[in-house]
Amino acid sequence: MRKGIAVSPGVAVGTAYVIHEIFVNPDTKRLEDQEISAELAQYETARDRAAADLRALQHKVQAQVGGEAGAIFSVHESILRDAAFTNRVRGWIVNDRLTAQAALHRLLEEYTVLFAKTKDEYLRERLTDVRDVIIRLSSHLSDVLKPEQHALEGPMIVVADELLPSQAVALGNLEVRGIVTQAGSQTSHAAIIARSRGIPAVSGVRGILKQVKTGDSLVVDGREGCVIVNPQPEVRSAYLKLEREFFLLRDQLAANRDQPAVTADGVALELLGNINNAADAKAALAMGGSGVGLFRTEYLYLTHADIPDEDEQLAAYEQIIHASPQHQVTIRTLDIGGDKTVPYLGHHNQEANPFMGWRSIRLSFEHPEFFMTQIRAILRAGVLAEELGGQVKMMFPMITTVEELHRLRLMVRRACSQLAKRGLKYTEVPLGMMLEVPAAAITIDVMLPYVDFVSIGSNDLVQYLMAADRDNPKVSHLCQPLSPAVLQVLRRVIRACRRANKPLTLCGEMAASPRAFVLLLGMGLRNFSMSPAFIPSIKDLATHITLPEAQRVLRKALRLTTTTKVSKYMEKELKRIAPNLSLLDMA
Ligand code: PEP
Ligand code: MG
Repeated sequence: MRKGIAVSPGVAVGTAYVIHEIFVNPDTKRLEDQEISAELAQYETARDRAAADLRALQHKVQAQVGGEAGAIFSVHESILRDAAFTNRVRGWIVNDRLTAQAALHRLLEEYTVLFAKTKDEYLRERLTDVRDVIIRLSSHLSDVLKPEQHALEGPMIVVADELLPSQAVALGNLEVRGIVTQAGSQTSHAAIIARSRGIPAVSGVRGILKQVKTGDSLVVDGREGCVIVNPQPEVRSAYLKLEREFFLLRDQLAANRDQPAVTADGVALELLGNINNAADAKAALAMGGSGVGLFRTEYLYLTHADIPDEDEQLAAYEQIIHASPQHQVTIRTLDIGGDKTVPYLGHHNQEANPFMGWRSIRLSFEHPEFFMTQIRAILRAGVLAEELGGQVKMMFPMITTVEELHRLRLMVRRACSQLAKRGLKYTEVPLGMMLEVPAAAITIDVMLPYVDFVSIGSNDLVQYLMAADRDNPKVSHLCQPLSPAVLQVLRRVIRACRRANKPLTLCGEMAASPRAFVLLLGMGLRNFSMSPAFIPSIKDLATHITLPEAQRVLRKALRLTTTTKVSKYMEKELKRIAPNLSLLDMA
């Protein structure tokens, strides 16, 4: 049994499918004489395709972002064209009979050793570029996700270092029962993706890629945060029983989709979906949500073959509005940086503290034309939402100072007049800030006059308050939403917004945690945005609790002095309040 961090609740039993295995367990196959020329030809085709990708990317990015933004792709192309690079790969295919994939793996290892020796920071950073090029080449050699090649038996459990967004999109067509990653934590990509689909997942399982190979039997326990590799038959059947119960519970809960979201004493709540694409927006509605509380638009950029222009963005937003008609659709502007990077926005240079650095709104401000394109697309999307009886809202991530809000208001005004000049229809949508930086939480009263609504990004707020990286499993014991410090700050912010009569939502992962939900309800929060798969269980939980009871539990929790005490107390209270939900509770 391997221990990790529970990131998406539930239990799954299935067959391992290991992504990016070539980088961990290289292809050991040796080519026959007659296979060598075909392998060389395949490598050449992959190289041509990768080069074509890079040129197209460079072109489009240059046109839209301007400046030197596209230059990184010409660096990548020159790596791809580098004679030494290519000759080594070809040499190993011919002389050592390696497959092209295995040769690329060997090359990556050689470069890694070589670059590790240099003290030159600049040169060391170039390893990221070499790695990018190798991954691009490798993905042209074999579709990264082709589990059918392995003739897997039974449902699939994906095992990866960290899931890339493009892989997550590809996973959409496959039957994935569980996800296990080496890296990551409760708020990393893989976790968010798993949660949005209601797939049990465990992250931060160090060394799992060395231990598991495609075809192994696996158990994923997303409640306890553990993975069992090739379990004994009796263990396996015990977990299969739990898995059936988990699915049964989920189906039962989903039956409440047409019920209103209210507490046992009739307090109305709003349960919204956090989405990455139109399919998620449909899921949010199907699960009984009443709209979109957070559309993370960076996924649009991260999964787009190149860079989405204004019309492409508008089309994507309209797709989501069609999937969620008559409801609010809250579109968050690009929140790139930190753990999500795109090379054309200058992310080929590593930062020492990426989460505290040049990310999110800070980066958008530095690419004003690029940012304006997104603002215009959102304003234009507002028209369709109104026609369908819904509403688009625009939300800005990582707001730290009130000056940023002034600047944003100006930019939105400028975007409106540009659209008017072009004769295009648009709507003046409500503008909101994400509250995820402690400075903004402290000065919330100063900020409120300049926004129409607020949404608490607890994933970031917790990591910044606790000074504990949300993606680093080593500090995950600190990065906890139930810590007394976090609860106190949340209570203050909720009070301030209520006093000022500003609509407030919480859209971090804690909105879906039964333990946190009860406390937030007690604090006065009424709007919660979460991965769609969690809407039914939170709606069910609400029907088990009255407001005075939530307030009583909160009062007691606020007197506890450690995260562990709060967490244990809430576990006990939940068992009492809603014993039926224990399969969905998570430590
Ligand atoms: C958050 O920080 O809580 C949030 C919802 O945004 P993200 O997870 O995309 O940073
Ligand atoms: Mg955030």
